[in-house]
Amino acid sequence: MCRRWYGCQRSIRKIPKLKAISEFKIIDKYLSNIGTSFNKKNKVLKGVGDDASVISLSNNLIVSTDTSLEDVHFPKGIKPEYAAYRACATALSDLAAMGSHPIAFQLSLSTRENDHKFFSSFKKGLNDFSNDYKVGLTGGDLVRGQYQISVTIIGEQHSNILLRNNCSVGDIVFLSGQLGNGLLGMQNFKKFKRKNNVSSAYLKPKALIDYGKTIAEFASSAIDVSDGFLQDLGHLSKASKVGFELSSSSIPFNSNLSLKQCLNCGDDYQLIFTVPKKNIQSLTKKMKKKKFKMFEIGTSIQTKKIILDGKITSINRGYKHF
Ligand code: ADP
Ligand code: MG
Repeated sequence: MCRRWYGCQRSIRKIPKLKAISEFKIIDKYLSNIGTSFNKKNKVLKGVGDDASVISLSNNLIVSTDTSLEDVHFPKGIKPEYAAYRACATALSDLAAMGSHPIAFQLSLSTRENDHKFFSSFKKGLNDFSNDYKVGLTGGDLVRGQYQISVTIIGEQHSNILLRNNCSVGDIVFLSGQLGNGLLGMQNFKKFKRKNNVSSAYLKPKALIDYGKTIAEFASSAIDVSDGFLQDLGHLSKASKVGFELSSSSIPFNSNLSLKQCLNCGDDYQLIFTVPKKNIQSLTKKMKKKKFKMFEIGTSIQTKKIILDGKITSINRGYKHF
């Protein structure tokens, strides 16, 4: 069948919603009570149950959406619990990279499953996420179709907003932690099909929210490593119109993989951030107090290239959808 023809048919044929009775039952039983106890503190005046949610804010709103697709962002056969958790945590990571504070999340779910086993497991993942980050599920959508989880995270400004375009020449580049654990976790999960110490980095990734809020006061720019360290550093370079000079010996990575693999694989959700020299002392003090690690890996330079161990490096390798 011609793909284009198929595509056309799909686009004019509206994907039917789940039958009314099961749709509302699913929302009622599995999606209405996720983290509602956090809503008051987060100034959510209305969560699930009306045409839209209502949130009262006095600060700048920081919002980000991420869609996770079966076979692209999570493998077929993964427990719904982990598909849900992973989709939420990877979406939340963007707020960590902005140095922001999450207050709520919205979920658009497309699936062909409508049995209790699937939704109980999915709910477990949502609840774990909600408890880990103290945010409630405030609304969303549910349709029948290809398995896909789209999560919108709503947050607010904490101190400074960490943008990608604010790094200056001479700023020092830091990484929050080891690269490669996401890839290793995925490989491990594909082999053993269960959660263990290694696969948990992939199944239940951590969004570095407290870390992001801590560096926000001092850093000039930041990005989270979602598509690959070099590719994401390339985004900082392009946005800030600077280059970076790095030394590979200072980049922390999982020694079960090669440095090259770790520089190009995604799914780590570590933060790359830059700090003006004048702020380093106060940042170091604060990070020590909070027991957060940070690894100095290089300097920002005028030449708009990434230079690793003296050689210009291609940044064109990480994950790309198109
Ligand atoms: P509407 O037709 O007005 O868009 P829906 O019937 O789609 O409303 O949804 C009813 C309520 O359930 C809304 O408050 C909506 O936000 C919530 N809801 C629907 N799907 C989800 C979901 N996947 N997760 C959380 N809440 C949901
Ligand atoms: Mg409505």
